[in-house]
Amino acid sequence: MRTLRPRPLPGNPGAGVAVGVAAALVLGACGVGGVSGTPGDDGLGDPYFPRAGNGGYDVTHYALTLAYTPADRHLTGSATLTARATQDLSALNLDLAGLDVESVTVDRRAARWNRAGHELTVRPRDDLDEGTVFRLTVRYQGTPVTLTDPDGSEEGWLPTEDGALALGQPTGSMTWFPGNHHPADKASYDITVTVPRGLTAVSNGELTRGPTTRGDRTTYAWRATEPMSSHAATVAIGRYDIGRAVAGGGLPVYTAVDPDQADAGRDVLSRIPDVLAWAERNFGPYPFSSAGAIVERPDDAGYALETQNRPVFPGAPDTALLVHELAHQWYGNSVTPRTWRDMWLSEGFATYAEWLWREDHGGETAQQTFDALHTAGSASSGTGTDDAEDLWSFPPADPPDAAHISGRPVYDRAAMTLHRIRQALGDDTAFRALLRDWAAARRYGNADTQDFTTWVERRYPATDFAPIWRDWLYGDGRPDDQ
Ligand SMILES: [Zn+2]
Repeated sequence: MRTLRPRPLPGNPGAGVAVGVAAALVLGACGVGGVSGTPGDDGLGDPYFPRAGNGGYDVTHYALTLAYTPADRHLTGSATLTARATQDLSALNLDLAGLDVESVTVDRRAARWNRAGHELTVRPRDDLDEGTVFRLTVRYQGTPVTLTDPDGSEEGWLPTEDGALALGQPTGSMTWFPGNHHPADKASYDITVTVPRGLTAVSNGELTRGPTTRGDRTTYAWRATEPMSSHAATVAIGRYDIGRAVAGGGLPVYTAVDPDQADAGRDVLSRIPDVLAWAERNFGPYPFSSAGAIVERPDDAGYALETQNRPVFPGAPDTALLVHELAHQWYGNSVTPRTWRDMWLSEGFATYAEWLWREDHGGETAQQTFDALHTAGSASSGTGTDDAEDLWSFPPADPPDAAHISGRPVYDRAAMTLHRIRQALGDDTAFRALLRDWAAARRYGNADTQDFTTWVERRYPATDFAPIWRDWLYGDGRPDDQ
């Protein structure tokens, strides 16, 4: 979930980045080692964030070792990427915003590097042949920055009342570690964070070691084993009430709640095992090794985010928002949009999960929710988004620009599209099987709109879905049919 908040658009972020292309080319041209490699691209060509991520390599693991002091907002970091070259490489780029780079090594040998905009270009001493697995380590420090997105919301490193919170959708993770910051390159993570004694550092996955206190510093070591897009990575530093529970199948549930929100959050967070049990019946096995939540104060983050294993909430959530963010663990985190154009595959499913939850718990049926939206059109559905953007202002599979990837049609109209599929199937059992089987088919991977529509058509060849794709996914304006 992201909310759209009306703020002025920032300046053109592409201006500084173009220099990165030139820098990579210059480095490649003056190579004296292997002659066959060429520089990896400085972006993955995302339709809305073309410089996000980088070409020429695939990261399989990040080992991040961080130390943060809230009093002076100083971060010291070491990031070791284990990656495989997907072409013969003379140079490669990482995405990094702000911070000072102190050294870069590739397979423990010092590498040349330079920076331009959000691109950190690294030239290994020797070219990396296609297929080579290499380890690249960047040591860095400084005061991490907060980014303002095209839609006006803030992400990246957000200082809080008692620490800091890292949120990375769509590009903010480049403010606290260098990496291949695009959803198309998922990896496992070890995130070790040292903070002043008395504070807690929470991240994705499971606590593998610690907390270990030496002197006035305490270290927390977290490990996210299943593949994760960097936008779903988080670190939350502060004072928290820690809760531990066990959900079905022995799944550990770890919650970290700002003491200010502890009373308000107690009942709803105690429902996490129930929500997960319901979700497993509808969406299939929970995809990750642990679950939980991070609850900050309402002013610390302007929106909730489905950070992997452990979504972040700005204040205690209501049940609908909890259902939404937990559903994202299947749709968004396990099955991840291939590009930022495909966000509806994440938000549409999470929104529809809210509809299904209501239907299954004595509330209005999904049909009633659909009908109300189709009739009113511009009324807010409540938890989907809080903006007043018209439901019919653009098609969910084709947002007009980067400022609209979290716009209302990506939530509500996309959920309506799923309901149209349910209507077309005419069989509730078949529809719920579709939800489960789609999560299984693309588990831990990526998918774009065409992957989904093709999969649905093959799965149910007797049904003609073309009008639904045409009118509900790609069409302008309000479809008349229902
Ligand atoms: Zn969402």
